[in-house]
Amino acid sequence: QTIHLSEYKVPTYLVDTVDLCFQLYDDGARVHSTLSVRQNPESKDVSAPFTLDGDSLNLERVTLDGKALVAGDDYEETGEHLVITEVPSQFELTVVTWIEPQNNTRLEGLYKSSGMFCTQCEAEGFRCITYFPDRPDVMARYRTRIEADKATCPVLLSNGNDIDRGDLGSGRHFVTWEDPFPKPSYLFALVAGDLVEKQDTFTTCSGRDIDLRIYVETRNAAKCEHAMDSLKRSMRWDEEVYGREYDLDIFMIVAVDDFNMGAMENKGLNIFNSSCVLASQETATDLAFQRIEAIVAHEYFHNWSGNRVTCRDWFQLSLKEGFTVFRDSTFSADMGSPTVKRIEDATLLRTAQFAEDAGPMAHPVRPASYMEISNFYTLTIYEKGAEVVRMIHTLLGPELFRKGSDLYFERHDGQAVTTDDFVKAMEDASGRDLTQFRLWYDQAGTPLLTVSDNYDSEQGVYRLTIQQTIPDTPEQTNKQSQHIPFALGLLGIEGEALPLRLESTGDAANAPTERVLELTEASQTFEFYGLAQKPVPSLLRHFSAPVRVVYPWSREQLVFLMSHDPDGFNRWDAGQRLAVDVIQSLISSPETAEIEPRLVEAYRALLADLSLDQALVAKMLQLPSEAYLIELADSPDVAAIHRARERVLSHLATSLRDELVACYHANTGGGAYEVTPESIARRSLRNTALSWLLLINDDAGRDLAVKQYSDADNMTDRMGALRALVNSDYAAERSQALADFYERFQDDPQVVEQWFAVQASSDRAGQLPQVQTLLKHAAFDWKNPNKIRSVIGVFAGQNLAAFHNPDGSGYGFLADQVCRLDDSNPQIAARLVAPLTRWKKFAPTYSALMHKALGKIRDKPELSADLYEVVHKSLEA
Ligand code: ZN
Repeated sequence: QTIHLSEYKVPTYLVDTVDLCFQLYDDGARVHSTLSVRQNPESKDVSAPFTLDGDSLNLERVTLDGKALVAGDDYEETGEHLVITEVPSQFELTVVTWIEPQNNTRLEGLYKSSGMFCTQCEAEGFRCITYFPDRPDVMARYRTRIEADKATCPVLLSNGNDIDRGDLGSGRHFVTWEDPFPKPSYLFALVAGDLVEKQDTFTTCSGRDIDLRIYVETRNAAKCEHAMDSLKRSMRWDEEVYGREYDLDIFMIVAVDDFNMGAMENKGLNIFNSSCVLASQETATDLAFQRIEAIVAHEYFHNWSGNRVTCRDWFQLSLKEGFTVFRDSTFSADMGSPTVKRIEDATLLRTAQFAEDAGPMAHPVRPASYMEISNFYTLTIYEKGAEVVRMIHTLLGPELFRKGSDLYFERHDGQAVTTDDFVKAMEDASGRDLTQFRLWYDQAGTPLLTVSDNYDSEQGVYRLTIQQTIPDTPEQTNKQSQHIPFALGLLGIEGEALPLRLESTGDAANAPTERVLELTEASQTFEFYGLAQKPVPSLLRHFSAPVRVVYPWSREQLVFLMSHDPDGFNRWDAGQRLAVDVIQSLISSPETAEIEPRLVEAYRALLADLSLDQALVAKMLQLPSEAYLIELADSPDVAAIHRARERVLSHLATSLRDELVACYHANTGGGAYEVTPESIARRSLRNTALSWLLLINDDAGRDLAVKQYSDADNMTDRMGALRALVNSDYAAERSQALADFYERFQDDPQVVEQWFAVQASSDRAGQLPQVQTLLKHAAFDWKNPNKIRSVIGVFAGQNLAAFHNPDGSGYGFLADQVCRLDDSNPQIAARLVAPLTRWKKFAPTYSALMHKALGKIRDKPELSADLYEVVHKSLEA
């Protein structure tokens, strides 16, 4: 059943306080919940029954103001609700439920992971713990008492401050926690288990000492330092950049092995997927270090953007997620290389979010309807939502944006609000009219900007015409033009940045060399004066809006921009466009096409010029991914794309063989391991060079890889060598390295996940039969989302040539696994199915088979609501 934003009603009853007592046992848990409830003065529904949400609960008792209620007479239990027929305007309700965390495989609500109790309540998991009006606009103050066995659960945690603890006899004990800040139920958390505590402190800007604690299993005690440092950096950054100080005396992070997503921002008690918090030089790659820093920051930043100011309803999810992703992305840019971070964000957006926006599940940043909210934790809500906030930042400038965020936090502290409230605060603080801009929240689909230009040599005027169109998406046609900030520059023939004069008068010396044009109409023409020659345009600098740009670039212009554009992002982008163009022309005429010599020369220049920012060079050397090439194509033939890309890669590697060897050596050595942009770039360059050399069966490259594999003192280099070997034709070296790697790291689940993933992503080691063997491996675990993702998710999402095998075997395989998982963990099943939902996009031979596989899932008996929504929407699209 579908829920509509237009049907939003304020809650009929409000809950002021929640008093919880958890009695945890091996065979289940009893939950006593006492709510103080009153009628909502703003609700028109007077004398309505009080309806609470519940899911898979065993109800033991209900009392109202101390009086036991009778089933059938005083209350009714339907599948999903507890309805108290008659209630006074103010009352105290106690509900006692029995639940079985040890049998909870959905990993929503209270469940067990490696023997410890933990929770995940966002979005609607609290109702799996007790009956409650489980919606974010019901905010209450929580007190939580946890009783458990002392030996198996020495550590008992919940939100807020611990205010009481004691012994209960017979080997049991309790701790009571109190959270002074009113919060929605989705921010509730509880952890009970045998954990070690890593402790540190942070002194806030106003001089308060905050107790910081990271809780992990004993074997992970040495892997918390990076997360702790990241946390302290995040706390400082949020004070400096947003003026946000932490508000409780204690901040806790817990690492959990079985977790459906990355991490969760529960008030004062963040719970993390182990893979998003634990790291050491030997076990985590540079990418993992950066990811951990970003996720720790993201969850910490939610304390203000999400917890202090929360969402009125789940249609507003991007209010907290889009804003918080924007915040963590700016933080990461400040901690490392801003250009590289922008490239990574734009790549994710253009590859995966654009695909989502063009597919059957396309939805606006603020959706108008949904069936299962778990399906809407999407790239659109998170990443496109962050781009929308970034555009506000661009339009207002940093000072007014900060005024706007200050106003937003001040005005709405302690409230549950909407994306509209956010935009309103930005408008009020800046005096800008964002009426048209709001369409970004309501219209789905990626705007397409078609740019054309001409140069009038007589008048020295360069004219740029930009047309915008927004494609139709499910349930939305004939869209209005959006307000788009479009950053650009113009380059002269020497590569010099030209002054951008929008008027014929005025003096060139004062004109800026970069401008943000504001597009608001279907077609607009801009004139630039005083230009002696036709310039080369550098369009949509820094990816200033989440849009596609079409302009008839010549290869010569792209080569020119690759080496001259002062905007690093656009240098990279020009290289990508050139490579895309070269690969695409190989696809359309595979036999005849010669591979563009200017591409080779451009790469040669990149490898040779040590004065360039090496972090940018490392990015520029990465060819556009298969996923991106598929996204760009109209009716993609995956096998042809794969072959063409491989051909370009090996042509580059063959032509640049000596430069690659030199690059490898130039970036080897250089002191102790550190995680800085410079040393990350060195490792990236070295590992790219290595992988290219192995691709062309270069024996010297093979020897370097074997040596690097065994000598490595860090995971980036060890994994770089392993990956190069796994993707090579050196079968003996590949098996030997894989066996050694497993042997070395078999006791570390996070590394075993990487071992699965490197195989499942390889077109050499990850063909379907090999992937099926991985599923039978002793370390594979059908109950652990990370293992599922690292084999099945990686195969279907990253090993595209194997997954899209023209015989349809990859599709059938995915359908089978999705059906199997739907019974134990529907959220994971509904996420894994995503690659099949894009069936319509592909060339007919593929799409027919993908459609068939989806049909197989649709016909499964007892489809979960999660999977039902995704499968039906994509079949009906
Ligand atoms: Zn978030």
